[in-house]
Amino acid sequence: MAIAQDAYDRLRSVTESANARLIAVSKTKPIADIMALYEQGHRDFGENRVTELVDKYEALPKDINWHFIGHLQRNKVKYIAPFVHLIHAVDSLRLLREINKQAANNERSIPVLLQLHIAEEESKYGLTNAGANDLLTAMRSDPLPSVSIRGVMGMATYTDDEEQVRGEFRRLRTIFDQLKTQSFNDQPEFREISMGMSGDYPIALDEGSTMIRVGSMLFGER
Ligand SMILES: *Cc1c(COP(=O)(O)O)cnc(C)c1O
Repeated sequence: MAIAQDAYDRLRSVTESANARLIAVSKTKPIADIMALYEQGHRDFGENRVTELVDKYEALPKDINWHFIGHLQRNKVKYIAPFVHLIHAVDSLRLLREINKQAANNERSIPVLLQLHIAEEESKYGLTNAGANDLLTAMRSDPLPSVSIRGVMGMATYTDDEEQVRGEFRRLRTIFDQLKTQSFNDQPEFREISMGMSGDYPIALDEGSTMIRVGSMLFGER
């Protein structure tokens, strides 16, 4: 097991020059791989399974910023609520309400992103543009004081067609801009666009990503 040092160095430099953050997606990878980056000062790691995240949280230094990037079931929010740094993939009001409840139980506020469905592929996950607007409208009459919506997240279609990927990222950026104007104009913390993975992060950065989530390029194939 080893990390790809040259890839890490390159990713650090491209994210720095784009003013973006690199989330090292460590799902399925061992503690030793995470420590190899931690020792170089890296603190942002992404996981997509609750039990794996909790195990790693318990085993690793407490100043790691843990990003939950996968689909989150409501009944599992309570396990990560005490420590999670950012939940990337909120796609329903019911999930957001549960996060709010568990955040309050832990006397904290939990930062989240709204996941938008931007790919051509069929997927069960992600809000439509209208769905995001409905959610925000519902929150006006039923505020959720213990969640902090920081921006949006999306995944492009898995394809070699760069123009398609670029178009999808551009759409996410447009949705972000609309939501910002309509609902978050007075909230500077609404500023994140989480998009870009190993296969498409250069395009994502080009289109305004503020967080790329990269796994296999750093840690090898899963
Ligand atoms: C696994 C995963 C990634 C990282 O994918 P790579 O292709 O390995 O870089 C990014 N985002 C999400 C939501 C993931 O599940």
